[in-house]
Amino acid sequence: MCFRAHPASNGMRKRILTGDRPTGPLHLGHYLGSLKQRVELQKEYETYILIADVQALTDNFEEPEKVSKNVLEVALDYLAVGIDPDEAAIVVQSAVPEIAELTVFYLNLVTVGRLRQNPTVKTEIKERGFGESVPVGFLAYPVSQAADITAFQAHLVPVGVDQLPMIEQTRDIVKKFNSLYGETLVLPEALLSKYPRLPGTDGKEKMSKSLGNVINLSDSVEVVRAKVMRMYTDPSRIHANDPGHVKGNPVFTYLDAFDSYPRDVAELKMRYEEGKVGDVAVKEHLAEVLNNFLTPIRTRRAEYAKSPKKVMKILKDGTDRGRDTAAATLRAVKEAIKVKYW
Ligand code: ATP
Ligand code: MG
Repeated sequence: MCFRAHPASNGMRKRILTGDRPTGPLHLGHYLGSLKQRVELQKEYETYILIADVQALTDNFEEPEKVSKNVLEVALDYLAVGIDPDEAAIVVQSAVPEIAELTVFYLNLVTVGRLRQNPTVKTEIKERGFGESVPVGFLAYPVSQAADITAFQAHLVPVGVDQLPMIEQTRDIVKKFNSLYGETLVLPEALLSKYPRLPGTDGKEKMSKSLGNVINLSDSVEVVRAKVMRMYTDPSRIHANDPGHVKGNPVFTYLDAFDSYPRDVAELKMRYEEGKVGDVAVKEHLAEVLNNFLTPIRTRRAEYAKSPKKVMKILKDGTDRGRDTAAATLRAVKEAIKVKYW
C-alpha cells in the first residue's frame, strides 16, 4: 500500500473529508449525492472517508450490533463503487479518539439554542419521535461532525443537501475557534453534486435508509426490478394513454441520472407526456438501466466480500493513517488552547 505524502507538510494536495453512518447498506442517493464525487476526486485530493459509527450510535445506541455489523457492509459498498484504498483512507470513527477530544473542546463554542435550530436535526428529531427526550449525544452530533471534518483539516466536504446545516455549523465553530485562539483550523466548504437530494422510490423528497424507500447498491437484479415496478410515478395518471407528468416523477429523475442516452430519455419523456407510453414500459426500461449500472458494482462487491479479513485490513490501515492526521490536528488545537503542558 503506497499512500502519498501528507500535503500539510509539503503543501501539495488539498484534503477531502466525507463519510457515512453505518446504519445500513448504501443506496443510489448516497452514490449520486456523494460517493461518485469521492471516486472522481480521490486522486486530486488527499481523501479521508469516515465510517461514522460513533455518530450512528447517537440514535442507535440500543442496537449496537446494527451499527457494528454495517461497518463492513459500508466498506464493501465503498470498494464496490471504486474507492481505491491506495488513494483514499477509509477511517473508522470510533478508533480515532482524537475526534472525541476535539468534540469536547468545540462543545464550549456552541449554544444549545443553536443546535435546536439546526433544520436537519429538527427534522430528524421529529422523524425519530424524540420530542423533549432527545439524547444530548444526538442533539450535539453536529459538533462531533465539526470534529470529524476539522480533525482532517478538510477543505472540501462532498455531501448531500441535508448536510449543509452541518457544514455551516462547522464553519461557525472554525471561525470562532480561530478568532479566539489564533488561526489553527481550515475553513471547510461543502461540495454539492448535481443530485444533492435524490427522491425515494415512494416519491418522497429524500431516499433515506431510515425511510425504507431506497434502492441499495447491493440489491440483486430481481430486487431492483421489483422495487422499480412498485415505484411511485404520476398519481394523476390512471390509463396508459392519459397524458403523464414528468416533473416530480422519480422514475424520470432516476433515468436522467443513470441513463447514458439523454436523447432517448428526452424522447421517452415526450411520449409519456403525450400518453403514448405506459408506466410499465418506462419502468421496465429503468430497471434495465439501473441493473446495467449496478452490474460492475455487484461484481466488485462480491469479489471483496469473499475476503472480509482483507477488507478489515484495509480499514485498519486507513484508520491508522487517519489517526496520524487527527493526532497532528489535536496537538495544534491543544497548543492553541494552551492545554499542552509538556
Ligand atoms: P440515515 O437515515 O441513517 O441518516 P441516510 O440515508 O441519511 O441514513 P447518511 O449516512 O446520513 O445516509 O448520509 C451519508 C451521505 O449521503 C451524506 O452526505 C448525505 O447527504 C448523503 N445522502 C444521503 N441520502 C441522500 C440522497 N437521497 N440524495 C443525495 N445525497 C444523499
Ligand atoms: Mg442521514
